[in-house]
Amino acid sequence: MQYKTTTERERIAPTPEMLAQFERQFATETRPVVSARGLTRTYGKGDAAVHALRDVDIDFAEGKLTAIMGPSGSGKSTLMHILAGLDQPTGGRVAIDGVEITRLKEKKLTQLRRDKIGFIFQSFNLLATLTADENVVLPLSLARRRADEAWRRTVIDAIGLSDRLTHRPAELSGGQQQRVAVARALITRPAVLFADEPTGNLDSRTGGEVLDLLRRSADEFGQTVIMVTHDAGAASIADRVVFLKDGRIELDRERMTRDDIYDTIKDLEDRPAAALSEEAAR
Ligand code: ADP
Ligand code: MG
Repeated sequence: MQYKTTTERERIAPTPEMLAQFERQFATETRPVVSARGLTRTYGKGDAAVHALRDVDIDFAEGKLTAIMGPSGSGKSTLMHILAGLDQPTGGRVAIDGVEITRLKEKKLTQLRRDKIGFIFQSFNLLATLTADENVVLPLSLARRRADEAWRRTVIDAIGLSDRLTHRPAELSGGQQQRVAVARALITRPAVLFADEPTGNLDSRTGGEVLDLLRRSADEFGQTVIMVTHDAGAASIADRVVFLKDGRIELDRERMTRDDIYDTIKDLEDRPAAALSEEAAR
């Protein structure tokens, strides 16, 4: 190689090595935390077959909060259960944090769920015999992992129940119980946190507290959150709103206001049946 005086422009011009490195970095930084391709889920056979999911492709980026909406029976729960490795698709695949879960054997899958996935249910699902604090660290106890003390404090502070830690679920309000459930889901620092109608059993004020907490999990901890909800208000805190209808993604939007969401739901409901059957034929 000959040496010559380099101009400013030549020095800035990226070498193939630099480009390759940039590409690698870029690829890891933008790799979706959850990725699904060609997901189908069919219940039953022949005439009685129900197509709960039809060829769904979707990616979820790190640190984003996504709301999944759609009428009852549109496939929201089916999608969430398959993404979380709680159910197997009839066809297609799902990767979480780069691991294809649809190929994993039960034991590996259980381990992956424990390490990479947090789940919040509509009905809180706390253990009645354990205190709030014991419920929060339960996933770690089950995995025989020790709590990182600093992280435990952070999570406990975030849910704002420092003075209720020795209470049992029956001594807590619904909203407080759900906040404990959020802390329990966050304690393992999962790659993704799934929430199935997390405010479904709460009044709007306490529901709002839980939503604030989910929003802060994404903003302050970079937590990836995927939330199924019926509620336009709940979905309006999301960075992205995905609408399902008849097992398909009908719309996939960036942040929306509550009014936009209402209008969109109405629009989707009002779509003429012809348009839908046309789409179904495709
Ligand atoms: P959503 O959560 O949006 O209400 P689901 O994912 O629960 O919708 O259901 C999607 C479709 O699949 C519905 O038509 C539902 O009746 C059907 N379905 C869900 N689970 C089962 C099952 N275990 N057996 C048969 N059909 C099912
Ligand atoms: Mg459901």
